[in-house]
Amino acid sequence: MMNLVSRLCGKINPISVKDYREYDGLKALEVCLFNREPNELVDIIKQSNLKGRGGAAFPTGLKWEFVASENNDTKYVVCNADEGEPGTFKDKVLLEGCPLQIIEGMIIAGYAVGANNGYIYIRGEYPRAKKLLIDAISNLEKEGYLGQNILGQEFSFNIEVRSGSGAYICGEETALIKSIEGDAGRARHKPPYPPNEGLWGKPTLVNNVETLANIPLIINMGPEEYKRYGTSSSNGTKLISVSGCVVNKGVFEVEFGITLREILFDICGGLKDGKQLKFIQLGGASGACLPEELLDTKLDFDELRKLDISLGSGAILVVDDTVDLLGFVKTTMEFFKHESCGKCVPCREGNKHIVKILDRIIQGNGTERDLDLLKNISMVMRDCSCCGLGQAAPTALITTMRFFEDEYNDLIHHHYKKDIDKLNREVI
Ligand code: NAD
Repeated sequence: MMNLVSRLCGKINPISVKDYREYDGLKALEVCLFNREPNELVDIIKQSNLKGRGGAAFPTGLKWEFVASENNDTKYVVCNADEGEPGTFKDKVLLEGCPLQIIEGMIIAGYAVGANNGYIYIRGEYPRAKKLLIDAISNLEKEGYLGQNILGQEFSFNIEVRSGSGAYICGEETALIKSIEGDAGRARHKPPYPPNEGLWGKPTLVNNVETLANIPLIINMGPEEYKRYGTSSSNGTKLISVSGCVVNKGVFEVEFGITLREILFDICGGLKDGKQLKFIQLGGASGACLPEELLDTKLDFDELRKLDISLGSGAILVVDDTVDLLGFVKTTMEFFKHESCGKCVPCREGNKHIVKILDRIIQGNGTERDLDLLKNISMVMRDCSCCGLGQAAPTALITTMRFFEDEYNDLIHHHYKKDIDKLNREVI
């Protein structure tokens, strides 16, 4: 286990500027404002090879460069704290444990890309974290680290906190932007990407909580030192949130390159009550269900991508072999059916139909054609949905059909056989 990004969680009063400064807090911001040009900071983040920690792993430095190169007097920085992926609670630990570090990352980002205003969009289900953020912002304002002419320099930056109201879709950046603007949270097609057209049409940098919490560390230790952590394609550490049938649940910070097996057995103590593993779901409800044989896979963006799997938000749900596979997938699909914003057809209709078909199979009325239908609908959803919600919604279905195909077939053929036996008995 590592203690880098989350090193202050539980160690200091989370909103005390004095406590934070005792652990080098705000040193990075001071160095940036007094000794670095904005473009140097963009280069430092590019050199660090930091990739977005919200799930998509887009290169952070490149995103900063897109926003920095926009010629516009008004730009925004948005911290995406709408951690809505089921099983994901790693940002909550940072928001409650070190809000000052996240805000410091945000101010540095604002200085680097040329933005003077920021928003933290936090899910409504995190009221404690919201209160801590508001208090942390107020304490930084009192000490001159936020507001007009920060530390007497030309640069000014203000932050507002906004909350969501329980809609999963509002974590998707274009829906999140709509929500801040006061409209219903609905995603739109990209491009244009927010770095070009974001909040109120202005260039906007949207970064996840954990991504921003990495920024002061990278500035303090330098990109080369930072790159000593992790693997060549995935630098630094990752916060993972582990839940399900496992001895030690919770949030752990791990170095990239660790295997899923090491996480499950060395860090989390294995399965509870001597149960056997069925699969782990990586990346929350929208993540892949991976069988035992894949546990030696490394936590590494490239290695996972080769297997057509995404690390996503870093959630790991451990599922034992007493769980009903199709029931699990149906519950997952019901979540997406409920959360679909309804704007695009593949997602709105696809989720609904998949639930219906799974239900039919579970009731014992499925046919082979239903399996083809499930595959076809999920492919259309993956390829044609407007945003990540619809694209990723059928991942549990796709991966369980890939790794546990026999169970789907058995269920259908077993019921077929039952029907044929019944018919035979009736005929005889
Ligand atoms: P995406 O690949 O569309 O984009 C990732 C980021 O890179 C975005 O900020 C996007 O604007 C930017 N980007 C990509 N191409 C760009 C370009 N050409 N120019 C400028 N910017 C560009 O992915 P996404 O839909 O934003 O996110 C999907 C991920 O979100 C999934 O991996 C999923 O795991 C994760 N997710 C996380 C949570 C959570 O609670 N943390 C919830 C749901 C989904």
